[in-house]
Amino acid sequence: MKIAIVGTGYVGLITGTVFAFLGNDVTCVDVDKKKIENLVNGIIPIYEPGLDEMIKECIIKGRLHFTTELSTVVDSVNAVFSAVGTPPAKDGSADLSYVYQVAKTFGENISHYNVFVTKSTVPVGTADKVKEIIQKELDKREMNIDFDVVSNPEFLREGSAIKDCLEPDRIVIGTESERAKEVMRKIYSCYYCTNDYSMVYTDLHSAEMIKYASNSMLATRISFINEISRICEQVGADIDEVAKGVGMDTRIGKHFLNAGCGYGGSCFPKDVQALISTAKENKCAVPLLEAVENTNTIQKNLMYLKVCNYFRYRLDTAKIAIWGLSFKPDTDDMRQAPSLKVLSGLWEYGAKDIRVYDPVAMEEGKKILGDAVKFCNNPYETAEGADVIIILTEWKEFRMLDMDRIRKSMKKPVIFDGRNIYSVPPTGFEYYPIGKIDSYKMK
Ligand code: NAD
Repeated sequence: MKIAIVGTGYVGLITGTVFAFLGNDVTCVDVDKKKIENLVNGIIPIYEPGLDEMIKECIIKGRLHFTTELSTVVDSVNAVFSAVGTPPAKDGSADLSYVYQVAKTFGENISHYNVFVTKSTVPVGTADKVKEIIQKELDKREMNIDFDVVSNPEFLREGSAIKDCLEPDRIVIGTESERAKEVMRKIYSCYYCTNDYSMVYTDLHSAEMIKYASNSMLATRISFINEISRICEQVGADIDEVAKGVGMDTRIGKHFLNAGCGYGGSCFPKDVQALISTAKENKCAVPLLEAVENTNTIQKNLMYLKVCNYFRYRLDTAKIAIWGLSFKPDTDDMRQAPSLKVLSGLWEYGAKDIRVYDPVAMEEGKKILGDAVKFCNNPYETAEGADVIIILTEWKEFRMLDMDRIRKSMKKPVIFDGRNIYSVPPTGFEYYPIGKIDSYKMK
């Protein structure tokens, strides 16, 4: 099948590449000229394990193309996927202007039956609005052309996105049209899992809601276990033991029960907020979702407050080392990362000497943080002469360091571990993990 994927960010570039890898002819479209120019020259704008090689292979096989002009490809493809961003607006609702722009271009250019597929995460009712926009453009052109709108939300996780795309738990297709369903079935027939068990065919509104409900459920589990971790700290229980014991209950399951310094990234925070916003618009009370968000804010703040408390809120002479900037391992994405919250908290209390290291998010970090922190080449350099190390991303690399060397090079061997990366505290360190001991009372 011939497909256009609009938006070559984490979702568009990865799903487009996987569709091409599995045999489809894919054109990736983006308004960012530099990004497209780089892609044409083999420069990949994001870090995702395995993506570089896959893109190169697809380009060589002639199945993956790049352009900035959606108008030139709309009419030569079986479907146009919108994978553009839907960032939070000021009031927390999803900003749909990019999706609507793609719909407009689609309506301006189709001349025969085509399918508009929304892969971006969009609130319930967006497909109806997209239909209206496309129809309005067709009316302007006085053309009577059949088209369908499909909701096909994406569930990939940055860091394991290729595997998630190749072996999805389920593929959700929301449509009322048998014709569109057939197009989607053909597009996805390249998947190994294309049996009707992993395909969820449903109506448009339910498909849109499945995505928000899924992300909100995951965010709820994180906020729940973080809240339990706060109680553990006060009563002397160990959150890792508790999570293990809880997760062994098959009704609960073991996934998403890792306590930490709060969830971040480009999805959970904005999607929980957008669902709250949808609920409010529809006069529906959602105290649970509001609590999920609030408890996450508390958890993100807790991390820097613990450090500030350690320094008696006088951080002007403190030498602080931060390991991990990305919101999770195996990605360079720093959107809503706990590291940003921790840094602004430390600055608020006067911290001046902060050194940071991340295995892949250094370039992204430099773009966001400029020269407000010192970027180091490795964890050892970051820790040298530091009063404390704060661990904010659970990169595997941090588990395999020579901790003896680190300890000897520090001014004081102190670790605040926001990800509980060590099952046994490193020898000779004052160690403050999440939810294990009363870290406040230790001081
Ligand atoms: P992103 O910001 O990484 O990429 C969006 C891209 O769209 C950018 O390259 C931008 O230049 C481009 N763009 C914007 N307007 C355009 C237009 N009119 N025409 C062409 N290109 C345009 O975003 P992302 O992280 O890939 O997320 C995209 C969507 O997928 C969002 O709705 C997000 O919620 C959802 N989603 C994201 C993830 C994830 O892990 N990142 C997972 C599942 C779903």
